[in-house]
Amino acid sequence: IACSDSILVTGGAGFIGSNFVLDWLGAGHGPIVNLDKLTYAGNPENLASVEHSPAYNFVQGDICDAELVASLLQKYRPRAVIHFAAESHVDRSIVGPEAFLRTNIDGTFTLLQAAHAYFEALATADRERFRFLHVSTDEVYGTLTPEAPAFHEETPYAPNSPYAASKAASDHLVRAWVHTYGLPAIITNCSNNYGPYQFPEKLIPLMISNALQGKSLPVYGDGQQVRDWLYVGDHASALRTVLGRGRVGETYNIGGGNQRSNLEVVTTVCALLDELVPQSKFTPHLQLLKYVTDRPGHDRRYAIDARKLESELGWRAQESFETGLRKTVEWYLGNKSWVEHVTSGAYQQWMKQNYSGR
Ligand code: NAD
Repeated sequence: IACSDSILVTGGAGFIGSNFVLDWLGAGHGPIVNLDKLTYAGNPENLASVEHSPAYNFVQGDICDAELVASLLQKYRPRAVIHFAAESHVDRSIVGPEAFLRTNIDGTFTLLQAAHAYFEALATADRERFRFLHVSTDEVYGTLTPEAPAFHEETPYAPNSPYAASKAASDHLVRAWVHTYGLPAIITNCSNNYGPYQFPEKLIPLMISNALQGKSLPVYGDGQQVRDWLYVGDHASALRTVLGRGRVGETYNIGGGNQRSNLEVVTTVCALLDELVPQSKFTPHLQLLKYVTDRPGHDRRYAIDARKLESELGWRAQESFETGLRKTVEWYLGNKSWVEHVTSGAYQQWMKQNYSGR
């Protein structure tokens, strides 16, 4: 069989997936099929602007459903699978790891099996073209001391949270499917993302949305945990680059070289809010900061060395942390109803159960 020009993305209604879908369709790269289960983290509203586009097909379903995945590959004959779908929140993985093992490990296994069978049925020329792009995280590498060099592609895996362990397992499965079955897959490991459409349980949108409502800004432990931040639009451009020119069987680290402590991030968010909503009764917003008990096993520092992607494939991040964060705060200020919608119902319930008293 022959490939079409479409691509199949999984988890395209989530934070990074929806930014990628909007970016891809906006630039006219070809049709997309989006397979998403719509867990609490999936929000079709993110994609309302492309909902009626003939280039966009949405399928609500689970990546663990082998029959469904096989039928979608047969029906749409994509030239690539870009695998975003995951349970992605570390705190949730601590209180309920089962869903992480199921989606991140079993789900990736199911996709690999289906992609392999599909790949085997492709005509030779289309086998050259087909790619399986596995979107992963720098958390698989564990934690760094303040002086240690940044993670690079040869850094040994040392995952510390159930989330990181489940993503590490999925990376190993992908690697094995390349080496054992010749599946043309590529893995990317990216640092912390931020930007529009990020669910407000993650640090930056949580701080913005709490500060706007005058709620406390919970900072874990001493706030000195360091993360390397990348604007989500830069992640999308890196994935397009890797899909187009990356070498099969390789891993590419993706990062923007923006190491910041959590406390610095919260301080910068508050300074931007003071500037953009000076009339707020919560200005200065930093008064809302509240230190809370640290997360168990909290990794101290992540930092990504993205030189392989930069030198081999010529990719560069476009946004600095300052420009990207300003865009992000402005987006949340302009989209308050989005935040209200996603923070109602099931999410509120979970927050109450897990964060009451903090
Ligand atoms: P997210 O939680 O915002 O979105 C995940 C999406 O996957 C949701 O739309 C959800 O409905 C869907 N999904 C979950 N389980 C599913 C299942 N069983 N079947 C089908 N769909 C399912 O996550 P995100 O932040 O957009 O992350 C996307 C990917 O990027 C993940 O694989 C994550 O590990 C990776 N990543 C994230 C970051 C980050 O900072 N957010 C950094 C590096 C890598």
